[in-house]
Amino acid sequence: MAGLTPVADALAKVLDGAEPLPEEWIPVGEADGRVLSRDLVSRRTQPPADMSSMDGYAVRAADLPGTLPVAGEAAAGRPFAGSLAAGTALRIFTGAEMPAGADAVVMQEDVKRSGDTVTFAAARPGQFVRPKGLDFSEGVPALSAGVRIEPRSLALAAAMNHASVPVHRRPRVAILSTGDELVEPGAEPGPGQIVSSNALALAAIVRREGGEATLLGIVPDRLDATLAAVRRARAEGHDILVTSGGASVGEHDLMRQVIADEGVEPSFWKIAMRPGKPLMMANLPGLRLLGLPGNPVASFVCATLFLGPLMRRLAGRSDILPVEEDAVLGVDLAANDHRQDYLRATLAESNGTLVVTPSPVQDSSMIRVLAEADALVVRVPHAPAAAKGTRCRIIRLTR
Ligand code: AMP
Ligand code: MG
Repeated sequence: MAGLTPVADALAKVLDGAEPLPEEWIPVGEADGRVLSRDLVSRRTQPPADMSSMDGYAVRAADLPGTLPVAGEAAAGRPFAGSLAAGTALRIFTGAEMPAGADAVVMQEDVKRSGDTVTFAAARPGQFVRPKGLDFSEGVPALSAGVRIEPRSLALAAAMNHASVPVHRRPRVAILSTGDELVEPGAEPGPGQIVSSNALALAAIVRREGGEATLLGIVPDRLDATLAAVRRARAEGHDILVTSGGASVGEHDLMRQVIADEGVEPSFWKIAMRPGKPLMMANLPGLRLLGLPGNPVASFVCATLFLGPLMRRLAGRSDILPVEEDAVLGVDLAANDHRQDYLRATLAESNGTLVVTPSPVQDSSMIRVLAEADALVVRVPHAPAAAKGTRCRIIRLTR
């Protein structure tokens, strides 16, 4: 147990000194997935005037019930010139500006029209009218700094008449695979070789987190090759270098030596979690190096727990931590040891309860079990044995 950094301490060290990246202005149409660097204040009031929310007739409610002559017409973008005289009605369509004097709209389905006159039942003042400023008002902030823009907030930013928006620069993340045994997907693996899958999964995670991913390929377990790749990542101006493999204490594990050659001490290099004990973090000048374990499940879980929050911090998001939820165990679990455990599990709904069932096999090399999982069950160090039906904490995995 000695020398294993607790998960929370490791996360604090990963985030230590990490600040949101500088601001840049981009066209609003390109802002999906980007993070606002300041509150967005509306440049206009919406609706800009009282508007009809129905096709029908604009009236003075006090004139109703009764039969009124039609004084003219207003449609979206074509307001009626002048105000509505008492004792008259105006043909009006959805999205049209209410004429001065009118205070209600009667749906066309609820009237009887004959020639130029319309017969109305009683109406409530304000009915089917959207008052000026109902949605948002000029000068009022409607989107907050730290929000990640998605299609709905993008629509709001555009409606507030922002042609460009201030966002944080995207994190630039380089990804390096280390291992003599690795070949790229599609290549013919030689004896004892396997296909490298971590880098592509990591790149996909980086992109989903709004970052730019650069694949640096595979380096063999050699100090010179690994060091050259790290120096390339520094020279190319990446914010983060994520490596997979070579982080444990085996004789081929070079990452610590590489970091030492760069003149830096890792902030930690072994953590009290499973999967993923050999996780390493080092702050090189201008580059954060996150050394993930090579085992595919460990690489993914560590990316979820550490790379995700670091990227979200750099991207300027206000919500950076993985979201934990409550669920109920679908099976008995044995007591946990000194490492925080993240069990791959499936979710099912049973009578309104979320039931989580960890896979019986939790080998950290098993990509298929990971791909079929819906969630990770979080078990704190020394958690006692837990019976089926006990509440537990989970982190959902995106499908
Ligand atoms: P290491 O951390 O280098 O000791 O690697 C641990 C295990 O993960 C070994 O079985 C490696 O073959 C495997 N592994 C390492 N890198 C990758 C990768 N990029 N894709 C898939 N498996 C890997
Ligand atoms: Mg290796």
